[in-house]
Parts: sequence; structure tokens; C-alpha cells
Amino acid sequence: MSALQSSGNFASTANGVYCAYCGSTPAASVDIRGHRGFIFFMQFLKSPGPFCRDCGLATYRRMTVESMWIGWWGFLSAVINPVTMLINIPARSRITELPPPIPGGPRIPMEPGKPLYERIEFLLPIALIIVGPFILVALASLN
Ligand SMILES: [Zn+2]
Repeated sequence: MSALQSSGNFASTANGVYCAYCGSTPAASVDIRGHRGFIFFMQFLKSPGPFCRDCGLATYRRMTVESMWIGWWGFLSAVINPVTMLINIPARSRITELPPPIPGGPRIPMEPGKPLYERIEFLLPIALIIVGPFILVALASLN
């Protein structure tokens, strides 16, 4: 048994894929998508991988929060935005299955930050989407 195997912790092993952002390994070759909808045009955003676990999670969370705010405002975006978020789920699970990036990469991996469900900037748009129609109905019934 080598010294590495006997060390007892969950040592990450290089998988031959390197993060496009910090250069760390292991990484997964996935892309993370976002969506911006405006009245007359849309933007399909893509952050190409590979991502290490930390850069991937940071990018996934950043793009999902952004899509939550500015992904809804086009005619087709109400459909496309949730589809974009669904497409991200397999990419996200491949990233979270990765062990932590091996220290000593060329650059420091991004800080993943808090999970989405602990972020007010993610929860607030969800609350508005759920509560918003009731407020509109209530306002309309005031006439
Ligand atoms: Zn990275």
C-alpha cells in the first residue's frame, strides 16, 4: 500500500481533466448555461467547462441566480428559462460528484459560496414568482 492510499483521508486523484478557470484537477467536461430574456430578444449564455468542483459550483450558482432575476422577461423566456435550469442539473451533479480540487493548481479555485437555498438573491425571485400573481389578482380585484 502506498503512502497516498494509507493516508486515510479522501485524497483527490487527478482524472486528466483540468479546470478551465483555475487549472486544478480533477475536473468535469460540462458546460453551465444561463438565460437572459428581454422583451424582443434573448441571450443564451454558456460558460464552457471543464470545471473543477469549486469553480463549477461557483459558476452554477452565479448563473442560476442571474437567470432567476433576468431570465424571465421575454415572450418565450418563461418557458426557456426553466428548461435552461433543468439542462444544468446533470452538469451540476457531475460537478458535485467531483472530489475537491487538488491544492497547488496554477490558480486558486473560485469560492463556491453559500448554497442557493441560503441566498436571499435566489429565494427572493422565487417568492415573487409565487406570490406575485396573488398580488396582481388582489390589485385587480380592487377595481
Ligand atoms: Zn477550478
